[in-house]
Amino acid sequence: MNLHSSYPFWLAKNGLPFDYPKVEESTSADVVIMGGGISGALVAYHLINAGVNCMLIDARTIGLGSTCASTSLLQYEIDTPLCELIDKAGLKNAVRAYQLCAEAIDKLGKIAKKIKFTDFEFNQSLYYAAFKKDLFFLKEEFNARKENGFDVDFLDKRVLKKQFSIDAPGAILSAAGAQTNAYSFTHALLQYAKTKGVKVFDRTPIIHIEHHKNNVALTVENGCSIKAKKLVYATGYEAVKFIDEKIVALHCTFACASEQANEKQKFWTDDVLIWNTADPYLYMRSTKDKRILIGGRDEEFYSPAKRDALLPGKIKQLVNDFNKVFPHIAFKPEFSWAGTFGATKDGLPFIGNYKKLSNSLFALGFGGNGITFSLIAAEILTGNITGRKNNDENIFLFERI
Ligand SMILES: Cc1cc2nc3c(=O)[nH]c(=O)nc-3n(C[C@H](O)[C@H](O)[C@H](O)COP(=O)(O)OP(=O)(O)OC[C@H]3O[C@@H](n4cnc5c(N)ncnc54)[C@H](O)[C@@H]3O)c2cc1C
Repeated sequence: MNLHSSYPFWLAKNGLPFDYPKVEESTSADVVIMGGGISGALVAYHLINAGVNCMLIDARTIGLGSTCASTSLLQYEIDTPLCELIDKAGLKNAVRAYQLCAEAIDKLGKIAKKIKFTDFEFNQSLYYAAFKKDLFFLKEEFNARKENGFDVDFLDKRVLKKQFSIDAPGAILSAAGAQTNAYSFTHALLQYAKTKGVKVFDRTPIIHIEHHKNNVALTVENGCSIKAKKLVYATGYEAVKFIDEKIVALHCTFACASEQANEKQKFWTDDVLIWNTADPYLYMRSTKDKRILIGGRDEEFYSPAKRDALLPGKIKQLVNDFNKVFPHIAFKPEFSWAGTFGATKDGLPFIGNYKKLSNSLFALGFGGNGITFSLIAAEILTGNITGRKNNDENIFLFERI
């Protein structure tokens, strides 16, 4: 599957910071991680820290799946609002899923610090009503979050205008949030994991997989075979081909990075992460090198060619959307790209064993906040592999379909 158009910003900005070899000989490991995006990298980081012998293999060059296309906002507020998730998953699971995402942001920050990865910044998150008719929903969502202990404030039209210069009917301001660069973060995690003993390979598609009762046998493109006790599928949206049931609806999404502003230019208050209640939603953030990233205008996914053909028109619309929110901030597009992403029915990821494939463990952080899900998956799967029960794993199982 072609996961994005040619030049996502991070790829242009960071290039290929590290090289990894191909698999050239048959081998074995206790755990093979298939996929070297942010999910696979976080799984590798957690497994090696837990003392598990593992290797990671990617079909592409490391990070060149969805990860390099990610705008990398880290939000605890997932695509399904809490007040709706409560109906879908029940109060306990819904609140716990939101809490886990909030905790994931802190944990990602701590990991970044530990491995000395500097492109990570905590920010508040602002969720504003795109239309007057959304105000009732927004208040309901605010109440659901407040009642369940999340650190949120409601800003009415006047306060929103005064504090953030945004002319909208109201907003929820959340304390939890962060922004990063998932592509560089992936490389930094894998560099760390390598020093601890993880073998990392790329440009090595796994083309045949046999799931046996006690192990998994893999064959890669050049014919080498690999044996493992467990196989972690960290294959992003390409996982759909391994699962019989329809677990995800694919969409295409569009993003744009502005030209750099001068160092002294202020964008908006505290550079909070911003998104809104429109469907599809508009979102924006700033970057460390003084750009603005905007994204949204999602469509149903038909084919990479159709997705990429839509790009120029979508970027015009996104820039127009941005100008309506911040008419006083200049936005000159420099990098634009399209990507494919998937949404599950309840907005939650799929994490854990897929019963039809013995010794399989999936880390599928689908949705607009896939990166926080990747962290949750890495923790749950590491617990699974090392025999530590995780009380939250039931929330994300395949069995809920
Ligand atoms: C435009 C865009 C913006 C986004 N913005 C955000 C955001 O702001 N915040 C957020 O949290 N999320 C965001 N996301 C989602 C986020 O990018 C994804 O959730 C995340 O990158 C998924 O990482 P992954 O490692 O699971 O998948 P990927 O990065 O796709 O990695 C999977 C890897 O598996 C490999 N693979 C597949 N099959 C095989 C095989 N047979 N053999 C070997 N390797 C294989 C692939 O080559 C690939 O590199 C965005 C996505 C897009 C497209």
